Amino acid sequence: MAPGNDDLVALIDGRLPANEVRDIVSRPKEQDRFQRVLEILQARTGWTDRILMPLSEHLYIVQKGAERIVRCDCGHEFGDYRCNWKLRAHILVRDDLESLEQIYPGLSAPNPELGELREFICPDCASLLKVESVPCGYPVIFDALPDLDGFYREWLGTPLPDSGEFRDLTPEVLGDWGRTTA
Ligand SMILES: [Zn+2]
Repeated sequence: MAPGNDDLVALIDGRLPANEVRDIVSRPKEQDRFQRVLEILQARTGWTDRILMPLSEHLYIVQKGAERIVRCDCGHEFGDYRCNWKLRAHILVRDDLESLEQIYPGLSAPNPELGELREFICPDCASLLKVESVPCGYPVIFDALPDLDGFYREWLGTPLPDSGEFRDLTPEVLGDWGRTTA
């Protein structure tokens, strides 16, 4: 049986007992599950701009006029979803023993000569949006660049009104910044 809306809300909020979560996620999903979840999130944010896809606990891709942007649930906007939103977050880099030991006390701390911990924080609400643990100097990871038009057209069967070009804009933004600061 398909889960009711109360169950989906509890699932989104992490309030559902583990056995019920397993039950819901392991069963075939009803055709309109994605839309049902979007409606819950849309009502919760109170935005008039349409949510196209949730990205994480706090982040959403929304349609704002002709643009598709990443927005935090506090309202902070990170720009075009095709550019890695992390570049516009506040970034706390833990790359020395002192800062790493605040998270990993004592011997459990990773070797700061090998890797670093990056915390991506919303500039407005200060929510911790993402953490990545990477080798020193590793490029900032672009977690997800969803093919929105392909997803809506081919998976949901409800194409979005104006399809946009689907490509990663991150290198161009970084290139522009490089020229500006050169
Ligand atoms: Zn925020």
